[in-house]
Amino acid sequence: MYSVWSKTILFHNFLPLMALANENYLKTPEISYFDEIEKRVNAFKTIHPNAKLIRLGVGDVTRPLPNEVLKALHDAVNEQADVETFKGYGPPKGYDFLIDKILKEYRSIGVTLDKESIFISHGAKSEIGNIGHVLGRDNIIAITDPVYPVYENATIMSGRAGFLNEEDQKWSNIVYLRCSSETNFLPQLPNEKVDVIYLCNPNNPTGTVLNRVELKHWVDYAIEHRSIIVYDGAYHTYITEPDIPQSIYEIKGAKKVAIEIRTYSKSAGFTGLRCGYTVFPPELMVFTKMGEQVQLTKLWSRRKFNYTNGVSYIVQKAAEATYSRKGKAETSELVNYYLINASIIRNELSGLGFEVYGGINSPYIWIGTPEHQPSWKYFQQLLYENHIVATPGVAFGMSGEGYMRFTGFSSREATEEAMKRIRNGSF
Ligand SMILES: *Cc1c(COP(=O)(O)O)cnc(C)c1O
Repeated sequence: MYSVWSKTILFHNFLPLMALANENYLKTPEISYFDEIEKRVNAFKTIHPNAKLIRLGVGDVTRPLPNEVLKALHDAVNEQADVETFKGYGPPKGYDFLIDKILKEYRSIGVTLDKESIFISHGAKSEIGNIGHVLGRDNIIAITDPVYPVYENATIMSGRAGFLNEEDQKWSNIVYLRCSSETNFLPQLPNEKVDVIYLCNPNNPTGTVLNRVELKHWVDYAIEHRSIIVYDGAYHTYITEPDIPQSIYEIKGAKKVAIEIRTYSKSAGFTGLRCGYTVFPPELMVFTKMGEQVQLTKLWSRRKFNYTNGVSYIVQKAAEATYSRKGKAETSELVNYYLINASIIRNELSGLGFEVYGGINSPYIWIGTPEHQPSWKYFQQLLYENHIVATPGVAFGMSGEGYMRFTGFSSREATEEAMKRIRNGSF
C-alpha cells in the first residue's frame, strides 16, 4: 500500500499528498534587523572584550517591578497554595476585579466604556498579530513607514500583503504612510481608501505624537470610509503634554471605528510578566460581503473563547496592584525615570545640533544621523567610537534610513555617560 502511495506522489504528482506549509510565513525575514545588531555587537565584543558598552537601543524596560506589584504576586501565589482560595481556569475575557479598575481609569479621563468591551490579554504583541483573524482577508491595510515591525509582518503572514517590490521593499497590497522630516515624522491621511489602519500613539520608533486635533482627522477618515483603526497605546502613560489624548476614545466617534490595545509592559515593567488589555467597543462594526453589519467584539469573543483560557490569576492580581494609590505612585515613578533619561538624551543631542524628534511623551528619541549618513554606517560609528548601541532607523522601514532610535530604557548613569561620550567624541 505504502509504495503505491509514494508512486502516486512521484509519478503523477497532481495531488500534494503531504503536509503543506503556510507559505506566507516564509515571506517575512528569517533574520531580523535585531539579530543583525546582535551579530555586530558580538563582533565588536570579540575585538574589544573589555569595552564598557552602553545599550541605548533596546525597546525593553530594565528597572525591577514596583513593590506593590511584587506584593500582589506573592499574595496571589500563596492563594494558590490553599484549597479555600485556589483558582483554576478564570474567565477567558479576564477577571472582573481587573476589568473594573480599567473601566475606572478610563472614567477618570472622561471615557465611559462598556464592561463587555474589555478583554484582558497576554500583552499587546499577540493582540496585534491576532486581530487579523477576525478581519476579512481582502482588507487593505495601511501602516506607517517607519513602523513597529509587527504590524507589517502580521499583515504579510496573514496573506494580505501581495507581492514584494524588491527595489523599495514595499508590498503591493499594503498602503505605506510615509513619515519624514517634512511632516515632523507624523503620518498623513491616505489618499486612497484603506480598510484597516495601524496607529501607534505615542509612536514607537519615532517618539512622535498625534494631538487631539490630528487624531480627530484619522477618526473622521475612518468614519467616512468605514475603516477601522487598530490603536496601539502601549505608551499612553508616557504622555506628559495636555493636548495629547491618552486614549483614542477621547475623540468623538472613535468608539465606532477603533480598537485600543494597551499593555502593562512599558507602563509597569511587565515585559516579562505579560499582561495587557484590548478594547472592542460594541459600537464598532465590520461588514459581511452582503453588507450586513457585525459587531467586531462578537467575533473577538468567539476567538477568545476558542483559542485561549485567559491570563493567569497571579498575573492579573499583579496588574490590579498598579491601580492602588501606592501602585499608581510607584508606576508613575518608574515611567518618570525613563522619561527623564529620554529628556537627557533629547536635550543633549538637540544641543549638539542633531535633528531630534520624540523624547517628551515617549521613551523614544528619533535622531537624524550626522550628514544624513546611512543608519548602519552611523551604527558602526557609535559602536566603535563611542561604545554605544542604538537602533538603526532603517530597521523600521525605508523611511527610517538616515535615522537612529535611542531609548530612555537604560539606567540614569549609563544614559548620562553615553551623552558625555557623544559630546566628547570618546568612549
Ligand atoms: C513594546 C511594544 C509592544 C509589545 O508589548 P507587549 O505587551 O510586551 O507585547 C507593542 N506595541 C508597541 C508599539 C511596543 O513598543
